[in-house]
Amino acid sequence: MARPVVAIVGRPNVGKSTIFNRLIGDRLAIVEDKPGVTRDRIYGNAEWNGKQFSVIDTGGIEIDGEDMILKSIRIQAELAIEEADVIVFMCDAKAGLTQSDEEVAQILFRSGKPVLLAINKVDNMKRAEDIYEFYSLGFGDPIGISGSHGTGIGDLLDEVVDALPELTEEEYDEDVIKVALIGRPNVGKSSLVNAILGEERVIVSDIAGTTRDAIDTPFEKDGQRYVLIDTAGMRKRGKVYETTEKYSVMRAMRAIERADVVLVLINGEEGIIEQDKHIAGYAYEAGKASLFVVNKWDVVEKDDKTMQHFQNKIRDHFLFMTYAPVVFLSALTKQRLQKLLPVVKHVAEQHSLRIQTHLLNDVVSDAVAINPPPTDKGKRLRINYATQVAVKPPTMVVFVNDPELMHFSYERYLENKIRAAFNFEGTPIRIFTRRKS
Ligand code: GDP
Ligand code: GDP
Repeated sequence: MARPVVAIVGRPNVGKSTIFNRLIGDRLAIVEDKPGVTRDRIYGNAEWNGKQFSVIDTGGIEIDGEDMILKSIRIQAELAIEEADVIVFMCDAKAGLTQSDEEVAQILFRSGKPVLLAINKVDNMKRAEDIYEFYSLGFGDPIGISGSHGTGIGDLLDEVVDALPELTEEEYDEDVIKVALIGRPNVGKSSLVNAILGEERVIVSDIAGTTRDAIDTPFEKDGQRYVLIDTAGMRKRGKVYETTEKYSVMRAMRAIERADVVLVLINGEEGIIEQDKHIAGYAYEAGKASLFVVNKWDVVEKDDKTMQHFQNKIRDHFLFMTYAPVVFLSALTKQRLQKLLPVVKHVAEQHSLRIQTHLLNDVVSDAVAINPPPTDKGKRLRINYATQVAVKPPTMVVFVNDPELMHFSYERYLENKIRAAFNFEGTPIRIFTRRKS
C-alpha cells in the first residue's frame, strides 16, 4: 500500500521537529533498539481519522556542505515538493513574519501542491491574533497551533487529511513480485536495474499515458511478472540526492515498505561497511523477503574459496538475517546475472508460504519432545498448539499456558526447527506467544 506523503517545511526553529514528533507519536518508541533505526528520524507514519499517511520533517535533512541557512531551506523545500502530496508550511507566531518565510513561500507557490499554512507557538490567546499577518503569504487561512501545548494540531490534521489524495490502492496484482534495490551510493543499483531490464527475454512493459518518468518499472521474465520499485529514485542524479544520506535512506525505506523482496546490494570490491548493516536492518524490520547481492564480482580477485569466505563474512555481519541467500554477480559484465531472478522468485514464494496447522504442529511437538522447555522457578512452559496466522512475512502464533515462560532462546529454537522443516529461505518469520490453557 502506498501511503500519501505530508512534508513539513519552514525555516529553522519554527518547531518542525516538535510537530513531527507529535504527529508520528509513540511509534518511535517501538523500534528503538533494532538494527538500522536512527533516533533522529525524518520520516514516519501517522494516522488521523482512519487515514494513514507518511510524514517527512524536511528540517532533519541536512544538506552536506551547505553553510548557508537560506540555501538549505530552499533545497529542503524543493525536496518536499518532489516527495509530498501535501505540504505543511510552518511559521512562528512568536518571531512573526520574516524574510525567510517569504522566500520559502515563493518556492512553494510554484509547486502546484496543496500547501497548508501552520503558525506555531500560538501558546496563548494573546498570540492568536499574531497569526493574521501571515495572510500576506497568500496561502489562505493560517492555522494557529502550539507544539508545546498540543493545541490546534487536531484542526491542522483535519485539514491535512482533507487535502490528501485518496489512498492509492496497490496498483499491482497479487502475483506480481515487487522488488526494491537498496544499498549505499555507487554500489551499482542503477547499473543492476539496467542490467536486469536489458537481459534476454525480459519484456519491459510500456506504461501508456504517463508523462512524468515512471517511478516503478514493471517487466516480465519466464512468465513471471515483476516490478522494480522506485526506479526513478535510483536513477536520479544530482547533488541533493547523492550527498544527503538521510534523504536517500528515507527514499529507500519508502521503497522497502512497498516491496515484497528487497535486494540488499553490497560492493564486492570494498566489502561490508557499517552503513550496509543499517540499510539491511530496514528490510528485516519491515518483514520483507530479502537477499544479498554482492555486486562488482568482476573486479574481485578470486580463487575457489573466495565466494565461501565472502558468504561467511556476510553471515558474521548480518546475524539477524541468516535466512537471506547470497548472490554474487556483476551488473557491469552481466556475469552470473541470470542467477538473480530465480532466487528473487524463490524467496518471494517462501515469503508467502502457508503451512497447514497439522504439519506445523507435528514439527512443534517433535521439537518439544526432543528438547522440552526448561522450567522457570518451578513452572514449566506448556505448548498447546501452533498455527500460522499470516503470510508476508509468515507469522505464527504459539498458544501456551503462560507466555511469560517463553524465553527468547526457546523461541529461537522453535524457529530453527520450523525453518529446518519448511525452509522459509529468504524470509523473516515471526512468532507470537499467546495464552491458552
Ligand atoms: P525546527 O528547527 O523547526 O525543527 O524547530 P524545533 O522543533 O527544533 O523547535 C525549535 C524550538 O522551538 C525548540 O526550543 C522548541 O522547544 C520550541 N517550540 C516548538 N514548538 C513550540 C511552541 O508551540 N511554543 C513555544 N513557545 N516553543 C515551541
Ligand atoms: P548506484 O549509485 O548504486 O546506482 O551505482 P551505479 O549503478 O551508478 O554504479 C556506480 C559505479 O559503479 C558506476 O561507475 C558503475 O559503472 C560501476 N559499477 C556498477 N556495477 C558494477 C560492476 O558490477 N562492476 C564494476 N566493475 N563496476 C560496476
